[in-house]
Amino acid sequence: MSTVVRTMCPMNCHPTLCGMLVEIEDGRVLSVKGDPDNPDSQGFLCVRGQASREIIGNPERLLHPMVRNRRGGDWRRASWAEVLDRIAERMHEAGRLAVATWTGHGVAANNYGMRLTGNLVRRFANLYGCQTWGSQMICWGLGGFGLGLTGVLETSTKEDMGAHANLIVLWGANLASQPNTARHVAAARRRGAHVVTVDVRETEAAAQSDEVFVLRPGTDAALALAMMHVIVREDLHDRAFVERNALGFDELAAHVRAHSPAWAEAITGISAARIEALARRYATTRPAMIVIGGSSMYKGANGWQAGRAVACLPALTGNLGVSGGGFGPRHGSTSHGHGLASIAANGRRPPGDYVIDQMPRITEALVAGRIRVMLLWGTNMVSSFADANQVVAGLRRCDLVAAHDLFMSDTARECADVLLPATSWLEEVGMKATNTHLYLMPQALEPPGEARSASWVLRELARRLDLDDFFPWASDEGMIDAVLDHPATGHATVAQIRGTGGIHPQNVSHVAYPTLAFDTPSGKVEFVSERAKRHGLPALPVYEPLPSSPYPLEFRQGRTLTHFHGFYDHGRALPSLARADAEPVLWISPVDAAARGVADGAAIRIHNERGALEARARVTDKVPAGTVWMRDGWRGVNNLTSGAPSIPDEACELFPFTAGQSAYDARVEVSPEPLG
Ligand code: SF4
Repeated sequence: MSTVVRTMCPMNCHPTLCGMLVEIEDGRVLSVKGDPDNPDSQGFLCVRGQASREIIGNPERLLHPMVRNRRGGDWRRASWAEVLDRIAERMHEAGRLAVATWTGHGVAANNYGMRLTGNLVRRFANLYGCQTWGSQMICWGLGGFGLGLTGVLETSTKEDMGAHANLIVLWGANLASQPNTARHVAAARRRGAHVVTVDVRETEAAAQSDEVFVLRPGTDAALALAMMHVIVREDLHDRAFVERNALGFDELAAHVRAHSPAWAEAITGISAARIEALARRYATTRPAMIVIGGSSMYKGANGWQAGRAVACLPALTGNLGVSGGGFGPRHGSTSHGHGLASIAANGRRPPGDYVIDQMPRITEALVAGRIRVMLLWGTNMVSSFADANQVVAGLRRCDLVAAHDLFMSDTARECADVLLPATSWLEEVGMKATNTHLYLMPQALEPPGEARSASWVLRELARRLDLDDFFPWASDEGMIDAVLDHPATGHATVAQIRGTGGIHPQNVSHVAYPTLAFDTPSGKVEFVSERAKRHGLPALPVYEPLPSSPYPLEFRQGRTLTHFHGFYDHGRALPSLARADAEPVLWISPVDAAARGVADGAAIRIHNERGALEARARVTDKVPAGTVWMRDGWRGVNNLTSGAPSIPDEACELFPFTAGQSAYDARVEVSPEPLG
């Protein structure tokens, strides 16, 4: 007799996560389906979500702790006691400041939005006093930095967008990153809303759009500045809104005078006439919502300036605090009114010489041998960090690298000494938060083999390290209750949410900034930012060209519908995703391919001064000449990318999230032959 369990998809398309019904019989998953009663997804479950059923019973799962005495050597099975003792011993030997933890998206597969496991790892690091860093630096942190300087971090919901926006600008926001948003874009379009895509290639979102603006990578800020030039020049801005709610309009108006559409045409590759038309359409269509990219548009040293400049547009046109305006769903964003308690114990970190929350500094610390024990949680670090060759070199200097995960990853293969088998989303209790709801994810299966949750592993390590107060709760549910214990949830509990079918509406506003109190020291939108100036950054939004390079092609990476970062060994462990995305494929324009003698489907070598990657060419006019693009997550992609800092060290901790992202810039050459 089978049972049906209500849970959530274990991918992390935050904030538009989807509900899932899992049919289980005798410990086996018979099917996964979209949950029609989930208010966020209403039965939707995309191809990635469907593939999650292949996690359970997968022969590639890590089921037992494993150790090896030499990297590259053979793994042998070990007991939990042996591996935990070994980790604790190495930690003692190294000393706390030579121990580090790093978490990836895997820790959030059953708690995205709630920060359960991520903050539990941070609590462990804080109480123990070791190094730990914010993983937003891989993803949306740098863009969030730009948005935050302007003061526009909250987002409106996908439902508000679908019901009220009359113009939607998908700015670097590919719907492959948040497929559940696409339904609401389509609903808006059926109402007559106009949809525009701005991106470096023709994405899945472009196919759903009325207009597509393909710009040169790293030039988003130039486009936004030129739009502001047109809006101010033609007096299309909302004077009353700006006077009441923004600081520095006069300086901004004087500043954008030099940033004409003709100036931007030469930089972005978009004609001045189209820029003018876009600016007029944006300023005169009310309400207009921008859905801004969560990650890939910031993979460049000037990515924060894109966030900073684009964030000025809604304020300039009075599009904030109104239904259908402002910013729509963005990875890592929250709605107005959202709140949770933190279990991270950030105030209890003992003094010490900590490596700042800045990716290049972490890599430097590894390469310098300053980190001797690295504890990795649900992360494929060498596929996600920029300048990955340096990261591998640094991890190999460690005395011990332990990886807690569901499957082997390239990081584990190349750098780990200890493998810790993790539980999947059905094998532990969890909870996810979208922008509007909290969803219980009950334990539905016994863990296979000796798989254990991160919570269990951390507790066992804490016991060995005498961290008495690490886990003061009676159970994982008690820990979740502690996070829920916040006025914004009405001090909800797991028991209470279970009693209401596992679904708990949050008391939030569908419209961001309904009170027009913004996230800045002045409480207003800051066109001019004194904070930026204090940290050695331009006070006004600017466009800065990317570093010059002898390599001719601008390389960018991003999402497809059939993968999620380096999850599940780049998707290779899940057969349906592996079939759909079998190998690294580089999009290259017909012009660039012909100039290099590269045929569609040919084996190629992508290379620059940092490294090389073998791939297959996809010759397509969906990417313009001068730009090449590839799905992210493949091992080797980030051998090509720059590990230089994007912002000064002292600016990295300006916000509660870290913005310390490496530049990730990469100019490359493409050759028709594979590496020998
Ligand atoms: S859109 Fe994201 S959360 Fe929803 S089913 Fe697909 S992968 Fe899962």
